[in-house]
Amino acid sequence: MDIDLTPAGIEGWLREENPEKLAMLYAAADAVRRENVGDAVHLRGLVEFSNICRRQCGYCGIRAGNAAARRYRLERTEVLECALLAEKLGYGTVVLQGGEDFSVTAEWWGGVIREIKEKTALAVTLSLGERHPDELARWKEAGADRYLLRFETGNPRLYRRIHPDAGGEVSDRLALLRTLRALGYETGSGVMVGVPGQTFADAVRDALLFRSLDLDMIGIGPYLPHPQTPLYAEAREVAARAAAGAAGEQILPTAENACKMVALARLLCPRSNIPSTTALAAARGGGHELGLRRGANVIMPNVTPAKYRALYAIYPEKEKIDAPQSAEDLGVWLASFGRVPGRGRGDSARAAVRADSR
Ligand code: SAH
Repeated sequence: MDIDLTPAGIEGWLREENPEKLAMLYAAADAVRRENVGDAVHLRGLVEFSNICRRQCGYCGIRAGNAAARRYRLERTEVLECALLAEKLGYGTVVLQGGEDFSVTAEWWGGVIREIKEKTALAVTLSLGERHPDELARWKEAGADRYLLRFETGNPRLYRRIHPDAGGEVSDRLALLRTLRALGYETGSGVMVGVPGQTFADAVRDALLFRSLDLDMIGIGPYLPHPQTPLYAEAREVAARAAAGAAGEQILPTAENACKMVALARLLCPRSNIPSTTALAAARGGGHELGLRRGANVIMPNVTPAKYRALYAIYPEKEKIDAPQSAEDLGVWLASFGRVPGRGRGDSARAAVRADSR
């Protein structure tokens, strides 16, 4: 079936609630996924490096202003151990993610990246927020392969409201994504679905941005309200309006809506790597499998030491969600819906095409 990917078509799908119609969207995304990136599910070990952050994002539980958050940062040896664990578990990539922890120097990170590249065959993905182009260049030189930086929402007004500037600099993630691409990183971005104030029209714009940015990786998850954040009160109001059938143009933070965005992202960007996210699994039991059946081809099992996991609470109870971790469990689980664990680094098929056409 041909799926209408014009702005009006995309909006129609985002508003669609009929399960039979949605099944057609999901089947189309699954077929495009199989044709373009195959049945392999790439495995990325996620290291939640630090919850120390200078920013005040309205959605995020580890924002600087959350005085209730107990802060931590991994030691260099711990980061190394996590990377070695990821390799031992058979994953092809380690993802180093954290708050904007500016007390860690670019040099320190350069050393860690170098050591991981020396001691393992892993691809290294960084997700450390908005850093200076010089630092990003330095980490690329040290061997980093990819960078994840979600633009969160393509609506500039909403973005400024939920993601204030920090450090006296205007936050421009779209510009940073271009910088990352120019530096030679595989570039990943993405959005939350259902942030208070986000409309259907905004979500259409987000989906079209995935394509115009020509992303290598696209991460999509439902927005999950955290009580110690400014957006929480608004999220309660949205939920109350939704319960009364009066949500208006607001797109709701449901697992279903996140799945629709995953499916649309696959159709718009057939060769991109698309993870089935932890947030999706937090919003609905079985969410990891659901995402993989509706366009996604990547899973990011958490390899952070257990004692830190509850502290990386970007949303509540995140630590309770995890995909299977061992190669054996992953293999059995993936086979139960016709998929196989990816081998090797799982580089972006889109990046390969881009390189060929140069
Ligand atoms: N400091 C890094 C990493 C942030 S965590 C950065 O800002 O890029 C990775 C992603 O988690 C964020 O980009 C955001 O899209 C998502 N996230 C944060 N808080 C969330 C919440 N309350 N609900 C759902 N997703 C959230």
